[in-house]
Amino acid sequence: MTSLRLVPLECGWLSTSASSVVAGLDGKVELPIPSWLVIHPSGRTALFDTGLHDELINGVGARYPLMARQFESRFTYEDTVSERLENVEVDPSEVNAIVFSHLHFDHCGGTSLIPNAQIIVQASEWDSAHHPKLIEHEVYNPADFDLGHDVLKVDGSHDVFGDGSVICVPTPGHTAGHQSLRVNLASGPVILTGDCIYWEEVLEEMLLPPFGFDHEMQLDSMRRLKQLRDEDGCRLLYGHDASQWATLSQAPAGLI
Ligand SMILES: [Zn+2]
Repeated sequence: MTSLRLVPLECGWLSTSASSVVAGLDGKVELPIPSWLVIHPSGRTALFDTGLHDELINGVGARYPLMARQFESRFTYEDTVSERLENVEVDPSEVNAIVFSHLHFDHCGGTSLIPNAQIIVQASEWDSAHHPKLIEHEVYNPADFDLGHDVLKVDGSHDVFGDGSVICVPTPGHTAGHQSLRVNLASGPVILTGDCIYWEEVLEEMLLPPFGFDHEMQLDSMRRLKQLRDEDGCRLLYGHDASQWATLSQAPAGLI
């Protein structure tokens, strides 16, 4: 039997001043925008996040005028999640599930390109992402994710394939219902941290964004992931870590 596979898909880049994503840092940062494909031995597939909306091929301002004040995109047609899937011979219309870390624009923009998947999201995230004030400020845009998919709203931990191989791990704080994804590869467990941890340095220094739903809650989630790394041997794959991403994108066959 083939084993569980995890394939990193590079869905473009955002650049911004470091201080706009991590309080107290200087300079500019380049942020890879990942989507992660999980291929279960049964042949069923799940995506963790869907990257950027294809309108951002024409720049962030084409869809998010407020976000465009802070972010520049480097994003082409080839970077859309559907093209990245075609590249690894997965039909986007046959993907079974989309697990959302959270519903910010750089994590759910490609959802319309994955038409037949069931969405798995924390209920608190789904509710928060429909809040009129947050929509007005472009924190969320339901037109990115509320498109008529079957939506499974979960509350807490969730077993994606029903066999313990891929588990949603709630890591709230960055947003109300942020979650990470534990993938138990044959080579050892990995955790896709999403934006609970942007990159390695922010974990080592326990740094936070200048924004967020609840900073104490996020610190607590960061500590729990660190503990899973240090005590359970989980490898952490961060949400927007350019250095780590460079090592992963050299493994086109994916992690096994
Ligand atoms: Zn993000």
